[in-house]
Amino acid sequence: MAPNINRRDFLTYAGATLAGVTLGEAGRRYLARVDERAATWRPSPAETWTVSVCRECPAGCGVRVRLMDQVPVKLEGNPLCPIARGRLCAKGQAALESYFDPDRLVGPARRDGPRGSNRWVRISWTDAINECASRLGRARSNGGAVMAIGADGRGPVEEAWSQFWRAVPADMAWTEQPTADRLSSRFRALTGAVADPVFDLEHATHVISFGAPIVEDWLSPLWAQRSYGRFRRGVGRPRGRLVQVEGRRSLTARKADEWLPIPPEKQTALAYGLASVLLREDRVDRTALAALGGNLVDFERDVVARFTPDNVAVASGVPVVTLLRLARDLAASPQPLVVVNADAAPELVDGVFALNAIVGALDRPGGVLVGTGRTPSDARRQSAVEAIDALATRSPAPALVVLRDASAFRSLAASPDTAAFDRCGFVVSLSPYLDETTAVADLLLPTHTPLESWHGLVPPSSDGSEKLACAAPAAPARLETRDLLAVQRSIAEKLSLDLDQASPFASSGEAVRGELERLAKLRRGVPYTTGFETNWALQLERGGWWVAPASSAAEFTKVALDAGGWLDPYVGAGRLRDDIARHGGLSLVPPALPPASPVAGARPEELTLARVVPAALVTATDDADAPSEGTLRLTAFTPAPVNLGGSPNQPVLFELLGQPDSAPWQVWAELGPETARAYGVSHGARIRITSASGSVDAMAVVIERTPPGTIAVAFVPAQRAGGRWAQLVSADVRRLWGRRPRSETVGVRVTTL
Ligand code: SF4
Repeated sequence: MAPNINRRDFLTYAGATLAGVTLGEAGRRYLARVDERAATWRPSPAETWTVSVCRECPAGCGVRVRLMDQVPVKLEGNPLCPIARGRLCAKGQAALESYFDPDRLVGPARRDGPRGSNRWVRISWTDAINECASRLGRARSNGGAVMAIGADGRGPVEEAWSQFWRAVPADMAWTEQPTADRLSSRFRALTGAVADPVFDLEHATHVISFGAPIVEDWLSPLWAQRSYGRFRRGVGRPRGRLVQVEGRRSLTARKADEWLPIPPEKQTALAYGLASVLLREDRVDRTALAALGGNLVDFERDVVARFTPDNVAVASGVPVVTLLRLARDLAASPQPLVVVNADAAPELVDGVFALNAIVGALDRPGGVLVGTGRTPSDARRQSAVEAIDALATRSPAPALVVLRDASAFRSLAASPDTAAFDRCGFVVSLSPYLDETTAVADLLLPTHTPLESWHGLVPPSSDGSEKLACAAPAAPARLETRDLLAVQRSIAEKLSLDLDQASPFASSGEAVRGELERLAKLRRGVPYTTGFETNWALQLERGGWWVAPASSAAEFTKVALDAGGWLDPYVGAGRLRDDIARHGGLSLVPPALPPASPVAGARPEELTLARVVPAALVTATDDADAPSEGTLRLTAFTPAPVNLGGSPNQPVLFELLGQPDSAPWQVWAELGPETARAYGVSHGARIRITSASGSVDAMAVVIERTPPGTIAVAFVPAQRAGGRWAQLVSADVRRLWGRRPRSETVGVRVTTL
């Protein structure tokens, strides 16, 4: 516990709410006192700075933490971090609120009422570990299944987490993160590379983006924003040109040179249509493409025959003249690049990779490079969402489920079916917060929040270099929480597991130090350093040199921890070409379905986006692929402040919801002026959106040029089981999709309230 919270304070907090398992009202008062101290701050000997790693999203940006009397009062970006270079986004700033969250769990607790009733009784860590170990031991001796679920990640702490559950043994499932990792399976299908794709946005000259939220939270958000800045106004080069293809007028769409308001289900036709025009007009470097080998001849035959400009114009809504111009502009640019959102449909991702291959963007600066990756066996990971969905029918149900965090629940298509957990023998939550995991758990073993934790994280590929974001705890543990690997080690000891096999590290700190010592012995890379020195290290490595940044492994470890990470800037040239050669050439994937045939009587050159008149809103019959259940097509978008990784109990993020159109604390839906007129909806009005699966009330936001016949809703999963602030968010939009994936478009009706 932090030295500045005395035992009496702690007991006061502990008695405040939820039978004493959260900080409650007293926590909020404490937070106010810290705010006050920060506001009246004057330099004093009690002020210190340290580094940490932001865990509010998977990007792993470096953070500098200002502490007064060991209390963290301010976060800044770490200028040495090669991902963000000193920047910190709003989600990163909100990490302080996770530390002070009044609905954090104050220590271990056992359920004292029906599941989900939030009635708990505090217990000691000794009792908690004994109970968990005894349940686990019983499950093992009875042959019951054990399941461990948590957010996906890479690094020494993640590896130790998996090692323990492999030794138990347990089924493991991971929540996919919205990083380039999500695109890796399609990238592998095309090139054979078992790695994440890297989009070298910074050095591209012309970019077509299929829904990628480049200036919001794309793949590795601060890296993307920095790259975008250089792409647009890099020194000594022409300004990069951006075409955004997206159904809603997002921040990226507003900043683009050209915005094509095309809903997601029509974007695949456009991607293949562009490929078809380039091949048809022979605007490709045939020699370079032939050198890659593979199935280009078959692909070209299929795509050119099926994706004629007329067909594409009808299927995508993009006029032929625009299609031709887009393709010709792309081919004419020296370093064209096509990018895509991480959660795009697989067929669109295939189309985007095919386009990149055709414009010669594979394996060149300003194109698609190969990043870090997993081993082939590790690449096939069980999805946490599927594992939780299967709990309702799995036979026999797991005897024990361990939930490391709530990320899986926030990715579910629908609000969690808590009844499915009733089928499981025993459920343990390791989350530090009151959240969806505590709503289904029997035993709470709260682990440290990010500012209190050791970090050893391999950030997702952004520039292709290899990194380890690492740091010691920035702030003392404030409550009776424990380190994740220390909890695992205690359980392993109770179960008399072989510690070398199951839990070789007594703590996360040991695991991180072990990894840094390994890197020091490999004699490559450097601790995080300035951009100039990073480039210097890169030049040396290219020349086959490595200058030791420290005189011993222990010193190397200290320097890396002080800097906030380690990186190896060397990206092997031609790695992707080698992968493609080993793969037997490119495997271009033609789309499963052809676009619609031209509508009888329609002249594609006359098709414009304005052609779809409001009458189309009330009768779906003039559009063959309109959803049958309703009259408007509903798509989802994720607002940048929505947080899958951290605590949902961060009021500053809820205040930012809906910016720049100001819709804090609530769900909003965006529709165009034609649609608004057809439904009698005005800007700011309350509307009810109803699908075949349910209905949600939202605020209407009217946005010019939003395609008629469509409506886009902010995907803000309400946290009914979360802390008090999380519960204030107005609605859970997931019910509109039912069990269907969020990437699908559903038909809805809209009424005003
Ligand atoms: S981009 Fe992600 S990791 Fe980086 S500061 Fe923002 S929330 Fe944190």
